[in-house]
Amino acid sequence: MGRWFKQLEFRWSARPAVAAVFPAPEVEVPTHDGGLTAWCNETAKALGLPELSRRVRVSWNSRMRTTAGRAWWPDRLIELNVKLRDLAPEELWRTLKHELAHLVAYERAGRKRIDPHGAEWRAACAELGIPNEQPYHTLPFKGRRLKRNYAYVCPNCFETIRRVKPIRRAVACYACCRKFNGGVFHARFELIEQKVKV
Ligand SMILES: [Zn+2]
Ligand SMILES: [Zn+2]
Repeated sequence: MGRWFKQLEFRWSARPAVAAVFPAPEVEVPTHDGGLTAWCNETAKALGLPELSRRVRVSWNSRMRTTAGRAWWPDRLIELNVKLRDLAPEELWRTLKHELAHLVAYERAGRKRIDPHGAEWRAACAELGIPNEQPYHTLPFKGRRLKRNYAYVCPNCFETIRRVKPIRRAVACYACCRKFNGGVFHARFELIEQKVKV
């Protein structure tokens, strides 16, 4: 009971000060489908979401190209790109938590409409131990040979821009500036640098 209250508090605080309520057992969990599903079952249960716990499933998708993961609600299905197996395990866990956070947010919201990467999702990310997660789904699967090691994402449309060299000045999303600001730079669409492992 005490823990649930703590999480409610957590859920509604705009800036979660506490680190991981949920330190994932990174090492112990086997990363085959069953192991990941079991981890999601337990995590949802501990967050007080019995239906999500019962129904959540994780599966590997071999047809995904650059998308790392996807969450389906109300199906409560998480699909992970098989290429995640070739990357550092942190990438897999980060993606899994990112997607589970979507399901947690939707589960709590019920019929209420919420922003996919809004406050509810960010709160769920914090509870799952990824407090600074960005709404960023693309991993450097493609273009690896070009060594475009720098990735930037638009905070508005989430379009990702990859560069060989880092951008040293304030750059905003061209599409969004054009659509919403008459083609003039606006800080609201300033690109955010992504930390990616290539
Ligand atoms: Zn997302
Ligand atoms: Zn944009």
